[in-house]
Amino acid sequence: MSIESILREVFGYPAFRGPQQDIIEHVVSGNDALVLMPTGGGKSLCYQIPAIARSRAGLGLTVVISPLIALMHDQVGALHEAGVRAEFLNSTLSMQQASQIERRLMQGDMTLLYAAPERVTTPRFLEQLDALHQRGALSLFAIDEAHCVSQWGHDFRPEYRALTVLHERYANVPRIALTATADALTRADIIERLQLQTARLFISSFDRPNIRYTIVEKREASQQLLRFIRDTHRGDAGVVYCQSRKKVEETAELLCHNEIPALPYHAGLDSQIRQTNQDMFLRNEGIVMVATVAFGMGIDKPDVRFVAHLDMPKNIEGYYQETGRAGRDGEAADAWMCYGLQDVVNQRRMIDESPAEETFKQGLRGKLEALLGLAEATDCRRVRLLAYFGEVYAGNTAHATPCNNCDNCLQPPEVWDATDAARKLLSTIYRVQQMNGFGFGAGHVIDILRGKVTEKVTQFGHERLSTFGIGSDLGETQWRSVLRQLLSMGAVAVDAHAYNTLRLTSASRPVLKGDVLVQLRRMSPAKPAARKTRRSTGLVTPKPTAALKGDALDRFTALKAWRFEIAREHNLPAYVIFHDATLAAIAQTAPKSLDELQGISGLGVRKLEAYGAAVLNVIHGFRAN
Ligand code: ADP
Ligand code: ZN
Repeated sequence: MSIESILREVFGYPAFRGPQQDIIEHVVSGNDALVLMPTGGGKSLCYQIPAIARSRAGLGLTVVISPLIALMHDQVGALHEAGVRAEFLNSTLSMQQASQIERRLMQGDMTLLYAAPERVTTPRFLEQLDALHQRGALSLFAIDEAHCVSQWGHDFRPEYRALTVLHERYANVPRIALTATADALTRADIIERLQLQTARLFISSFDRPNIRYTIVEKREASQQLLRFIRDTHRGDAGVVYCQSRKKVEETAELLCHNEIPALPYHAGLDSQIRQTNQDMFLRNEGIVMVATVAFGMGIDKPDVRFVAHLDMPKNIEGYYQETGRAGRDGEAADAWMCYGLQDVVNQRRMIDESPAEETFKQGLRGKLEALLGLAEATDCRRVRLLAYFGEVYAGNTAHATPCNNCDNCLQPPEVWDATDAARKLLSTIYRVQQMNGFGFGAGHVIDILRGKVTEKVTQFGHERLSTFGIGSDLGETQWRSVLRQLLSMGAVAVDAHAYNTLRLTSASRPVLKGDVLVQLRRMSPAKPAARKTRRSTGLVTPKPTAALKGDALDRFTALKAWRFEIAREHNLPAYVIFHDATLAAIAQTAPKSLDELQGISGLGVRKLEAYGAAVLNVIHGFRAN
């Protein structure tokens, strides 16, 4: 059976996406691969189709290694819905369930087995693999979330390091490693740690054209978030990331008080509650998950319409991975971040105070600076993001570098020349240090610049400084923005061990001398870009449901209600049964027979058999067919 017919018959999709076909052909033929593809790019099919093809060719089992056991149930459930023999082995199973699966495993009665790395590398499991291997019934290893092997990745898992045993023990069994993390450092680490030197590398474009990037200056963060959700995402599913557990709880509460259904998720919550909240988020529509970074890896809910950051992540990899959870279905989605000076200071402090080696910390600081650069940027965010991952953004037309789907493209910020202001700020930091022998924090330095006679100013005699009051032309906000920019350039450092005082660095000198041009965005009132610009850009496919009217809309509503019941019976999220896009296509075309239903994207042979008649009933009332 060809890979095209597996795609059509098992998954119901008419065509491969991007590089899927090349990757699948390569792996089906028994070669190793390292696949770098953004979230939502369609990585799962890259190993699921080879698994099916090789199993049908009598080559046996594919083992999928994934770090997130909480998601295995739904992943395997989705495969069952498509008629694929798949199971998972993890700690959520009872002993009895596990041994039953092990028995079936040994009988060769399985196409895919999902397991966590710590399970795969146990002597007991390896013995079972040995037995399969001897019979020639071990077909493929798929190592998902492969960046977990790297300490440069944002989800380092030491257990991943032990996976080299697969290569050493089963040298002739092909391996495919997959990740959505693309920076060069992590990539090199994956290749080395998993011994994939001879694997073919498949790198997709990391652009997510349907995601709109917006980064705003933090003022009253929670109010800004409320406004963002109310104005642009009422009723939508979304994720809000916060840094601390406390802030997660507070924010979830605030949203609920404002009639936005929200749930908290962080590592401090009881695992039962975490699981329940995750299930609610996955299985219901329109819930906002407020979470720390503990939430999200592998969450494959396709219709998350926004990801908001109330605090700045650690680096661009993290930001991209987290925002990438929006809009997996390819429909318009928002990545919104709100950040301020305090974020910069906090992140710096966390690095400075960590017990790691200095060279490692230096690496972390570099990554933080790249993210600050993105946040302060006055030009296209997408161009910058992709450049970070080594990609030149090609745009939609030959000359179009701006993407027309980020805040800076849609409302180009006014810039002002802050070179002089930067010099004033640096020389104030220098002078107070010289006068007192120690540094001061941002607030006080700005007070001096603005000529405010505070108690502290008088106490230290700072009104006598030559820079006192030389910056009264700028407001507090503007000064903070100058300072952020200098921090992001590394021209100012924050001393975390000394009350967050500011000090100069080796990069300060060229700025002080006026050799470096400092350009800043003029902060405009944080107003969300008007909705209609999104459509007028023509870049983003409108929601498939947006075109539904009259009868078609009624059919869609009826189909959704039907899907909800089926999903509940099967204990699976609704999108595992059918995506919205599939239901919308059915509602729109109102097929009259199974023949007519066939061919709608997302309807494979198995689903047609299982649900075809019911779907026809739903859309045509209870007429016999
Ligand atoms: P990733 O793991 O790369 O984030 P997934 O494998 O979860 O992405 O795929 C994202 C979504 O795209 C899924 O809902 C999947 O069913 C869908 N998809 C993948 N490949 C295709 C294709 N060739 N045609 C249509 N839909 C696809
Ligand atoms: Zn842009």
